Amino acid sequence: MIKKILVANRGEIAVRVMRSCREMDILTVAIYSDADGSAMHVRYADEAYHIGPSPSAESYLNIDRIIEVAKRCKADAIHPGYGFLSENATFSDRCKQEGIIFIGPSGDSIRSMGDKITARRNMIAAGVPVVPGTTDPIQDKNKAIEVIRDIGLPVMIKASAGGGGKGMRLVKEESHILSAIRSARSEARSAFGDDSVYIEKYIGSPHHIEFQILADNFGNTIHLFERECSVQRRHQKVVEETPSPLLTPEVREEMGTFAVAAAKAVNYSGAGTIEFIVDENLHYYFLEMNTRLQVEHPITERVVGIDLVKQQIRIANNQELAIQQEELTQNGHAIECRIYAEDPDRNFMPSPGVIKHISEPHGLGVRCDGYVYEGYEIPLYYDPLISKLICWGKTREEAINRMKRALYEYKITGVKTSIRLLARIMDTPDFREGKYNTHFIEKNHDFLFTLPKINSRVEDVAIMTVFYDYMVKIDSFQTKVMTKNGRSNWKECGRKKNLLM
Ligand code: ADP
Repeated sequence: MIKKILVANRGEIAVRVMRSCREMDILTVAIYSDADGSAMHVRYADEAYHIGPSPSAESYLNIDRIIEVAKRCKADAIHPGYGFLSENATFSDRCKQEGIIFIGPSGDSIRSMGDKITARRNMIAAGVPVVPGTTDPIQDKNKAIEVIRDIGLPVMIKASAGGGGKGMRLVKEESHILSAIRSARSEARSAFGDDSVYIEKYIGSPHHIEFQILADNFGNTIHLFERECSVQRRHQKVVEETPSPLLTPEVREEMGTFAVAAAKAVNYSGAGTIEFIVDENLHYYFLEMNTRLQVEHPITERVVGIDLVKQQIRIANNQELAIQQEELTQNGHAIECRIYAEDPDRNFMPSPGVIKHISEPHGLGVRCDGYVYEGYEIPLYYDPLISKLICWGKTREEAINRMKRALYEYKITGVKTSIRLLARIMDTPDFREGKYNTHFIEKNHDFLFTLPKINSRVEDVAIMTVFYDYMVKIDSFQTKVMTKNGRSNWKECGRKKNLLM
């Protein structure tokens, strides 16, 4: 049985994995780069080892060094979190060779799904519907034009090695085909070192809906329903929710069955996600599989009532799944907002820096998976995700109202954040009515970005009244406002604060 796990990651996901380990009485080992000496995951773990300089290529992606530390501290297993080495087939194989359990699928399963063209071929063979398009990389320009004429414009040119929305180009006119192929190739080459691209039909007004699956080493595979991830910016998820407002019970069941078939087709073991693209008429197509824990996994945990990290560890321990598909139900509604250190008013420029003050939301139905604390400096080397805020409600409406309340309570100073934009999303009529697709942010741009002019100091004062304990810590101007004007000023803020969200 696994007694000690090295978590080969940082930030909120490293802390989140360690939390489950602690509940299971499993010792945890943190690794950290130069930039992360004082990070929360280092403080939380039972042991911590420095592994190299700040750039991730020299630390969190350094396979040799991570294996060396795992052996030295006698860890039985490695949990890769998401990002970094989580979908690296060589790393999974290497752990196995070294006698360390990789908490994730085998190298072969990762290879079968890691490359989008191979995944498309495997899914076609398994009878899972895929987006119409090519199953070979584009070699010849004339052939590409022929294929596109056949499929019909618009099409997407996509990188086979793609991820994070990179190497993807929408082509609406025939005259743009060659330049789109060229630029997709060049982006893919520099991002992934592989410039293979293929063609997929462009699905208009699409929804991104993914299914969580769990598979053990004994041939048992189940799905844990869907997550609707259509609130996106540049093909990156911003808000996720479950259940999806779009799906009917019949389509949900069909898609769940295909998700299980997809995982079985590649002998999958562990937690994984089958992503589908769904059109307005509820036609669905396999998009890709993510062979790891997803950022947005907590909404599934909340609605289905299962700790996915504990399940990953059980499976890695070679235990049989103790959950039957028929037992699972979706209880209530959960929404996740990704809180980033970035400036939505300046084209989402990352905003690393020192957290001057933070008060996280609490209360019924609120989960905040974060890792920063007052005085912590968010490094510029990594993804600037600060935390994930997950709110549950008996109904979708209650979950939205609770998220608005939690975002109102969430206060971070020192860095710019996406909190106000997220609150605005909760207020957007299309979102409230559950009538949105991946074009939501562009379509509602004016509503989302033309925020009413507010005095941020007024907002600070309003929050300060709620969190009186923190007041002394915040800057002197705010304290002065409170002590000088006292209650009458608060009443004024109380009226104004309704405009803020
Ligand atoms: P990545 O691996 O880079 O994240 P995906 O294949 O998962 O790429 O696609 C990311 C997003 O891009 C999808 O959620 C969707 O919004 C959009 N997208 C991808 N393929 C298509 C398509 N064929 N038609 C329309 N939109 C697409």
